Amino acid sequence: MIKITLPDGSIREFASGVTPMEVAKSISEGFARNVISASFNGTTIETETPLTTDGSLILYTWNDAEGKKAFWHSTSHVMAQALEELYPGIKLTLGPAIANGFYYDVDFEDQKIVEADFKKIEDRVLEISREKHEFKMRPVSKADALEMYKDNVYKTELISNLEDGTITFCDHATFTDLCRGGHIPNTGIIKAFKIMSVAGAYWRGDEKNKQLTRVYGTSFPKQKDLTEYLELLEEAKRRDHRKLGKELELFAFSQKVGQGLPLWLPKGAALRDRLEQFLKKAQKKAGYEQVVTPHIGQKELYVTSGHYAKYGADSFQPINTPAEGEEFLLKPMNCPHHCEIYNVRPWSYKDLPKRYAEFGTVYRYEQSGELHGLTRVRGFTQDDAHIFCTPEQLDEEFKKVIDLVLYVFGSLGFENFTAQISLRDQENREKYIGSDENWEKAENAIINAAADKGLNTVVEYGEAAFYGPKLDFMVKDALGRQWQLGTIQVDYNLPERFELTYKGADNELHRPVMIHRAPFGSMERFIAILLEHTAGNFPLWLMPEQAIILSLSEKYEIYAKKVLDLLENHEIRALIDNRSETIGKKIRDAEMQKIPFMLIVGEEEEKNGTISIRRHGQEGKGNITVSIDEFVAIVDEEIKKTLKVFTV
Ligand SMILES: [Zn+2]
Ligand SMILES: [Zn+2]
Repeated sequence: MIKITLPDGSIREFASGVTPMEVAKSISEGFARNVISASFNGTTIETETPLTTDGSLILYTWNDAEGKKAFWHSTSHVMAQALEELYPGIKLTLGPAIANGFYYDVDFEDQKIVEADFKKIEDRVLEISREKHEFKMRPVSKADALEMYKDNVYKTELISNLEDGTITFCDHATFTDLCRGGHIPNTGIIKAFKIMSVAGAYWRGDEKNKQLTRVYGTSFPKQKDLTEYLELLEEAKRRDHRKLGKELELFAFSQKVGQGLPLWLPKGAALRDRLEQFLKKAQKKAGYEQVVTPHIGQKELYVTSGHYAKYGADSFQPINTPAEGEEFLLKPMNCPHHCEIYNVRPWSYKDLPKRYAEFGTVYRYEQSGELHGLTRVRGFTQDDAHIFCTPEQLDEEFKKVIDLVLYVFGSLGFENFTAQISLRDQENREKYIGSDENWEKAENAIINAAADKGLNTVVEYGEAAFYGPKLDFMVKDALGRQWQLGTIQVDYNLPERFELTYKGADNELHRPVMIHRAPFGSMERFIAILLEHTAGNFPLWLMPEQAIILSLSEKYEIYAKKVLDLLENHEIRALIDNRSETIGKKIRDAEMQKIPFMLIVGEEEEKNGTISIRRHGQEGKGNITVSIDEFVAIVDEEIKKTLKVFTV
């Protein structure tokens, strides 16, 4: 008998040779029907692999990331089979699962795969799938494996790097592939399949090698899931921040200025400014002090901080001056500057914590291929702050930072998030800087603060930086995509490197602890995510324009101007559309710009001192006619719903 430990901690006994699928059936037949993959003692196995030792078994369904991985990887085998049938003589290379599907890199030699062929391939994949072929692993000798692939230089290269005795093939139907394993039980559960695209890809990612064709596909256990996925992709395209940024005139890029260097247009700059003022106001209440530091610093500064070693070679190179040997760097981080601000004078424990905040612009060289809209840029502004405190204050400071982050998320409509706590690898404590005692203090401070604030947390051991543990907020957007926003990081390294001190109650000098934190992360990335999350319909308090006054004809221009003045007195951001266009056209254009309130003024409104309100995106709901004061109250009410007052 062997003892199998299940994820809930329960231990069950089985005869040696039991398979994961049999274990699943012993739990329940219904559950077993959904099991598509398994892992044993941390290694991915097949659902039919006999288990012969004690160990921990995890059974995966489609709802688990591991289950999807097996599902997609298995589909790549079926697609490879279909491709081989339809394009005889092609050479298969590698076909892994990726996020949302899989790919297979293929050398088509003198043949070519074009979009018009996709349907034919898809039909064949589904036909094979319906035949319900089992995936079966078998060991092969290195010699036999090399013989099988003697005409395929790619597989030959892969096999050459493997140890004899560790090589396995996977068979299904009439198809065989070199494979380590990790499959679904049979092809029958693949009910929907689609080729997403084809692209060029160099063998092993090296441009010196031959260019292959990467065929991207995805598959699902239900047709409905595929349909939903394709709709989601369409919606993501509509919400792409690069597209919306252009339509809403928020930002632009210029090849002349340089790649990855966003230009903020007036509306985008106003939006950024509003976000900055919002955070500054809350930070002021939370006891932060604003500082300003230059965009460059002496190279030595970053040698001291260690950033030169980290970013130096792969980033912007030092700026020389007419003076011999003088070198400056564009700053990749604000922290060293803030350390030097702390060092301007001596501190006593009674002065701490010091909290220095700066919307600091930093520059990092990203490969041009890595650049993407506002999410990957070469120059960006962090909503940075550094807190210098005593180890005893860490607990309290952490809680305060979490409060601030939650306030930011709440005001901007991010409701769905988890907090990832990254701690030390318990086995390798020597690779971290700082004393065991301090680490324990910091790790407990994070865990306690997160629990105290009722955060939904995931703990990752071994994910901490060498200089301290951290807490990252992972936010789910309206399309269910996950983004990392808001980091709080403890640091024992920079206080050492910059020899930061404070005088303790014992009259001795001590090292303060440093906390790096940025609720937005960077203004650029945050605005990109916010654009995609809201599709450009920001919370009302943040909208570049909250209302647009549409006059029915030139006759009402004076009244329109009067309405505008009244709104401006109440700090409502509004503008007038007095083009000689039809009202229908004016409404369509305002809808395009996503302006929340369209205020229509004509004869009736002028006579009664009212406005007729139409809301963005509520076509056919009918307008309501209100006085200016009533409208101001509507706006105030709505803003109060999202933008709460920050309290400490
Ligand atoms: Zn495989
Ligand atoms: Zn920092």
